[in-house]
Amino acid sequence: MTQLRLGRPVWLGRDTRTPRQTYQSLKAHQDVDVAIVGGGITGSAVALTFANAGVRVALVEAALVGRGSTAASTALLLQELDMGLTELGRRYGAAKAQRIWELSAFAARDFVKTVRRVGIACELTEQDSIYYTIGPDRVQQLRGEYARRCKAGFSGEWLTPGALRRLTGISGRGAIRTRGNAQLNPYKACVGLLRSAERSGAAIFEHSPVQRIDSARQGVRVVTPGGTLTARQVVIATGYATPIFQPLIGRFRLYRTYVLATKRITRQQHWELGLDSVMLWELARPYHYARWTPDQRLLLGGEDRPVVAGRGRTAAFRKGTRELREYFEALLPALSDLGIDYAWEGLFAMTPDGLPYIGPHQRYPNHLFALGYGGNGMTFGFLAARMLLEQWQGVHSADHDLFAFGRHR
Ligand SMILES: Cc1cc2nc3c(=O)[nH]c(=O)nc-3n(C[C@H](O)[C@H](O)[C@H](O)COP(=O)(O)OP(=O)(O)OC[C@H]3O[C@@H](n4cnc5c(N)ncnc54)[C@H](O)[C@@H]3O)c2cc1C
Repeated sequence: MTQLRLGRPVWLGRDTRTPRQTYQSLKAHQDVDVAIVGGGITGSAVALTFANAGVRVALVEAALVGRGSTAASTALLLQELDMGLTELGRRYGAAKAQRIWELSAFAARDFVKTVRRVGIACELTEQDSIYYTIGPDRVQQLRGEYARRCKAGFSGEWLTPGALRRLTGISGRGAIRTRGNAQLNPYKACVGLLRSAERSGAAIFEHSPVQRIDSARQGVRVVTPGGTLTARQVVIATGYATPIFQPLIGRFRLYRTYVLATKRITRQQHWELGLDSVMLWELARPYHYARWTPDQRLLLGGEDRPVVAGRGRTAAFRKGTRELREYFEALLPALSDLGIDYAWEGLFAMTPDGLPYIGPHQRYPNHLFALGYGGNGMTFGFLAARMLLEQWQGVHSADHDLFAFGRHR
């Protein structure tokens, strides 16, 4: 199986002992309504949403829950998509682009509400995001995006270069400030969602890699080395198409992305940096971004690059993290005095249009997919959970078509 991470994310701490298994492996046969493959943020959101709706679910995770791409995530819960309204509108028209943005904003709020309602301790904090540009040639593009957002009813505030500098310490050309975004610890959020799903009746199994999925009389049979699940439907929440779904693999492009976590920053250093308590991300692509942690570290991310077969992952890791550091030291010079405590690399999957696939595929009866989120997997994972429940319940909505496999036709 592909290794989803390299290096140690700050969320998993310094303890490098073999982590404890929380849930048993699947050792027998079990019959449920819905089987879920994958125990990351998507699988856990699906498990909780379905279990709360009274659906009998079982989730099988190949390794340990929450330790795939989810543990690598920097977990900015942005209402905004990576793909701007302008670009999305060009591809799908203004009305569809607006609806996709509305759904993303809804999913971000839904995530926050769920975490609060369930009472998951996962360092959730509300925080504004600052979408900036430093390139003089890009400011018109950013202004155009801002105008489109305003017209479509998305709240935001234009920051002049002076306002951007006062708020962030960045010498840029302008920015859009969005209020009411959030951030959290993705590993704790995932584990908390699963605990809650379990309380609502979900069965969860770790170290239970799915080897194949067969058609069965009334649905599917999900086969793991130790046991099987029969279910009317199976939800595939493995991040991207794994070798079990060979014909779908070509729909995803895998990228590596890098993150650094600084040492804890003192008040004095914070002041010297000039960066307020906001999340940063930039207009250029691939973009860089930064956020604070509750224990006063800065997470610095970006330098995404496509996975190229045979190219050394360790050498790419060194180069990626070095370039990341160089970028941020140029942006916020006071950073050069700060040490780095954690560095890691994570994998994410992109579809051709940057939107996830959520829903059925004609080739695979009784399967529902939730894959390919790019850099918005936290919010889209939640959106997937709601949409898949609707599909399971037989509710049809035009919203589903926006994320269907067939949308490219
Ligand atoms: C460095 C980084 C930063 C990111 N930052 C953000 C961010 O700020 N905001 C945001 O919204 N998104 C962000 N993302 C994206 C987001 O984190 C991911 O899209 C999201 O975590 C994917 O969750 P998932 O549950 O779909 O996949 P994963 O967390 O990868 O979970 C899939 C699980 O499926 C399991 N699995 C695979 N094959 C099998 C099998 N055969 N049988 C059983 N189990 C199997 C794997 O072991 C894994 O645990 C970031 C991603 C990375 C890498």
